[in-house]
Amino acid sequence: MSIEKQHQKDHTLRDRFIFLIFSLILVELCLSGLINNTREGAFERKRQEVEQFFLSVPNRDKARNSSYEFSKKPHIPGSQRDVILAKRILQIFQTELGISPTEEVIFQAGSTESRNATLQLTAEDRIDQPTAWIDVYYPELDTPKQQSVQVLNQEGQITWTANLAEEGDPLDEDAYSSRNDVPTWHYYSADGEAEGQLVYVNYGTKQDFEALLSAGVNLTGKIALARYGEVYRGIKVENAQIFGAVGLLMFTDIRDDGYITAQNGYATYPHGPARNPSSVQRGSSHMLYVYPGDLSTPGYPAYQNSSRQEPSNVLSIPSIPISWKTARALIEESGLYNNSTSDKVVRVTNRVDRAPAPIWNTMASIPGRISDEVVVLGCHRDAWVLGAADPVSGTVSLMEAVRAFGALLRTGWKPLRTILFTSWDAEEVGLVGSTEFGEDFGEWLSRYAVAYLNVDISAAGPRWLIYGTPSLNDLIRRTAQDIPHPTREERTLWDARHDKGFENDCIDTQDSRPNSTGIQMLGLGSDHAVFLLRLGIAASDQMFKGVTEFDVPYHYHSIYDSHRWMQMYGDPGFHKHIAVAKHLGLMALRLADSLILPLNTSHGASALDDYLTSVETQFNTSTNFHGLRKSIHTLQTASAEFEREKKEAELNFHATLAGNSPSFSSRIFDSTSSELSYVLPYHPYSGWLSQFMGQTSFMVFEEEIRQSYIRIANANKKSMMFDRGFLSDEGLPERPWFKNLMVGPDREQGEAESMHRNGYEGAPFPALSEALQSGNNKRVEYETQRLRDLLEDLSVKLRS
Ligand SMILES: [Zn+2]
Repeated sequence: MSIEKQHQKDHTLRDRFIFLIFSLILVELCLSGLINNTREGAFERKRQEVEQFFLSVPNRDKARNSSYEFSKKPHIPGSQRDVILAKRILQIFQTELGISPTEEVIFQAGSTESRNATLQLTAEDRIDQPTAWIDVYYPELDTPKQQSVQVLNQEGQITWTANLAEEGDPLDEDAYSSRNDVPTWHYYSADGEAEGQLVYVNYGTKQDFEALLSAGVNLTGKIALARYGEVYRGIKVENAQIFGAVGLLMFTDIRDDGYITAQNGYATYPHGPARNPSSVQRGSSHMLYVYPGDLSTPGYPAYQNSSRQEPSNVLSIPSIPISWKTARALIEESGLYNNSTSDKVVRVTNRVDRAPAPIWNTMASIPGRISDEVVVLGCHRDAWVLGAADPVSGTVSLMEAVRAFGALLRTGWKPLRTILFTSWDAEEVGLVGSTEFGEDFGEWLSRYAVAYLNVDISAAGPRWLIYGTPSLNDLIRRTAQDIPHPTREERTLWDARHDKGFENDCIDTQDSRPNSTGIQMLGLGSDHAVFLLRLGIAASDQMFKGVTEFDVPYHYHSIYDSHRWMQMYGDPGFHKHIAVAKHLGLMALRLADSLILPLNTSHGASALDDYLTSVETQFNTSTNFHGLRKSIHTLQTASAEFEREKKEAELNFHATLAGNSPSFSSRIFDSTSSELSYVLPYHPYSGWLSQFMGQTSFMVFEEEIRQSYIRIANANKKSMMFDRGFLSDEGLPERPWFKNLMVGPDREQGEAESMHRNGYEGAPFPALSEALQSGNNKRVEYETQRLRDLLEDLSVKLRS
């Protein structure tokens, strides 16, 4: 090529480039002008009106009444009260969403009726009205027969028998009257009897057991005595089993209660805020971190006639939970006080029957105008005993959000996307109801679910904790900044992330982690597990809880988690129930109604850098992750490009609308009207969309609009698929139920307790972390490559 020609070519390229930039600036200027003055400005006003109306509905008195009703009696999974509440929630869904009242919608999971109830939500001939129903699954449930802890003398005679029941006090009537209704036992613990000397093992972590071993304490044939905390129950039992113990007792240690203790002069509950010394934390104690859900049907739904497998996530030694008071007496009676091993032998008996039994998931839907995008939100309904905080507070928040959606519906509003409400059963025993649904409708959820928003405990203390997948960070934060603080006028819900202190009087505005987003990583702790960790669906969870050093101890899984405790200490005035209802509801509303899905792939991609850094720091590894970093950066670039495309697609859509027939645009809504009653039926986009979709013949200019909408729809599909991109069919090593390679449950901590008590975050890059821990370089290489392949694939998909 001659120099001259080269010059000419350079000129042409430069001119083209300048023209391109100029056009872009021009388009940008035109668009911003249009948007401010006309269409989008009006859309924005309309959106705000809809949201303000929505937020005006949740009500503290109604929340208090529901809390009282739902927490009056024990409602453990499979119980009479559990099915009564399942039907009660069905009735609320029907009343609030304008569905004709009937109980003829209780379906056996797996039946045609049950399959259709969910699948029809996205079918071509779907029902255009809200629906509600109950799916009945049959997981294995425990029936406790006999639990006892005894001390034996040299002759093997019983010298002392522990009182395992919580005492109760007539001052808290509900707790008192239910004190003998639900035995204190560990769900899915081994059926059996064990005898041995007692050894105190602190928290029962791996390090605790190793320390004992190196101090010369032999665990073989012993009964371990562990305190609650640090790690999930199942991890303690697994460790005890690995180190040779034959049984385990787990007690609540008031030394972990922080400042509000009897020792510091506070009366014990129900006479004051300190922990009742007879309170016991029940709970599941199997290997939930191997797989959650029904023990006998891993990876597939527990229908009544499903074939069953021998569970591979239960442990072989029995465990029993006891109170602080009982632990003290036991230590004394067995002669453990000044020794590492007790003088006397302790006998632990745990007799349970285990068989498939019915559980009830109550569901409801509001059909949207788009047929193939569904927003899911939910809370479990079953409780260990009364469960005023866990999960009644969450259920009450969810119901207040449902009422707000119902009120919107009555104004004629209709969401753009379908909304699915869920009231799960049997969460307490191993996330069963949600997991079975997720396994039953996995394919459907993968295709259509936009996000899953969870709530469990919504109120049990002053600090707002928020968990979520990074792609939801933006939505979570912005929404929290639009919700008032539950009790402080000048603040927002977002500020409540720092609150602490007895009686809510201390507000700390310092974020302890400077670069943090303020949103914690989700783990295995509640019903979001199947959505995020198996199906790759963006998810969130939130709660108000106490800060250990300052706040009133929460009687977790005890009879004292009662309405009275809630009114006095958990959430006096029910302000926090309402704040969560608003945040949960508004997030769902924004996910359902935004033209462009509020999922941010750039945030999703940039979080991976932090994940990798935290793995490197944790394992202090010399492994070079240069290649993996590069793949992360490739994804970040692709995400940034994609986020730009989303913005352009939206601008283009508005511009196309504005540029077309005014009569067509005016059919979208009448922006001159200020009457709420008139305005509300006309959703910014949905009014247009319904006409658009109902129309059989289009004028030529309408084809242009159609194309600009298709561009939006494509962008939304890619946003939805972003978190699916982290799934690997192969799953985690030895735990193939878990498919997500970006986040997962840590095998050392198990995490299930975390959501409720310790605040642990999920573990980033779980398979890679395990490989690093194993010290096997081949494994590390393999896991690094698996991650790289996923990230490179996802980058290509985002760019396609
Ligand atoms: Zn719960």
